[in-house]
Amino acid sequence: MIKIEQLSKSYGSHQVLTNIDAEIQRGEVVCLIGPSGSGKSTMLRCINGLEQYQGGSITIDGVRVDANAASIRQIRQRVAMVFQRFNLFPHRTALENVMEGPVHVKNESLAEASERARDILASVGLAEKMAHYPNQLSGGQQQRVAIARALAMQPDAILFDEPTSALDPELVGEVLGVMRKLAEKGMTMVVVTHEMKFAREVSDRVLFLDGGRIAEQGPSAQVLTQPRNERMQDFLRRVT
Ligand code: ATP
Ligand code: MG
Repeated sequence: MIKIEQLSKSYGSHQVLTNIDAEIQRGEVVCLIGPSGSGKSTMLRCINGLEQYQGGSITIDGVRVDANAASIRQIRQRVAMVFQRFNLFPHRTALENVMEGPVHVKNESLAEASERARDILASVGLAEKMAHYPNQLSGGQQQRVAIARALAMQPDAILFDEPTSALDPELVGEVLGVMRKLAEKGMTMVVVTHEMKFAREVSDRVLFLDGGRIAEQGPSAQVLTQPRNERMQDFLRRVT
């Protein structure tokens, strides 16, 4: 459903992504790994039109992603993004945070949005926390609200950019657990992560970015245990 062909992107004279080819099928979970500065966040941001790119193309079910096109709002509704920092509205409760998009972007009625938001919050284990404000929630709970907020838009795919890196270690598991459940339900996911156990156990494929190029890609089980690329071998030794 997500097709990336010869994607190139630079900031001024600094080339950040070079000739990226990748395809993500519906229902697939793909982990994007690589050293700091290799272009992982930039690639995700290009996929949902938060960044413009100079070369190649990205299409979502055949529709070209173009940050300047009128279609970009629709694309962002279909491809949700979850960030390292949760970016919740501080003066809104968990429930209000989750209802925000459906009500204001999709013009759903309050009743409809509220009913679905409650179901979604319950599904991420937050049935008891709906009336809490972000500062009354732990980091792991806030991130689960952020995931609920993405789900409330009923996206076709969710892009995660290091969703657990800002969390205390004891809170990482609850967020990965929610993501694992989503994967099992067939959600299409692209996940930037340093959690190699998650990559190994949950993802179908791994892409290894190095210096803005895909240096290696393949089925997770194979690529994570027997990487051919030396830089990837190095990287795996450092993160695992
Ligand atoms: P990390 O693991 O640290 O999050 P990353 O793989 O996500 O790294 P990116 O954030 O995509 O890397 O950055 C790739 C390169 O692009 C880096 O060299 C970075 O300095 C540069 N870069 C990113 N955003 C901008 C920007 N807005 N303006 C200029 N350069 C940028
Ligand atoms: Mg990044």
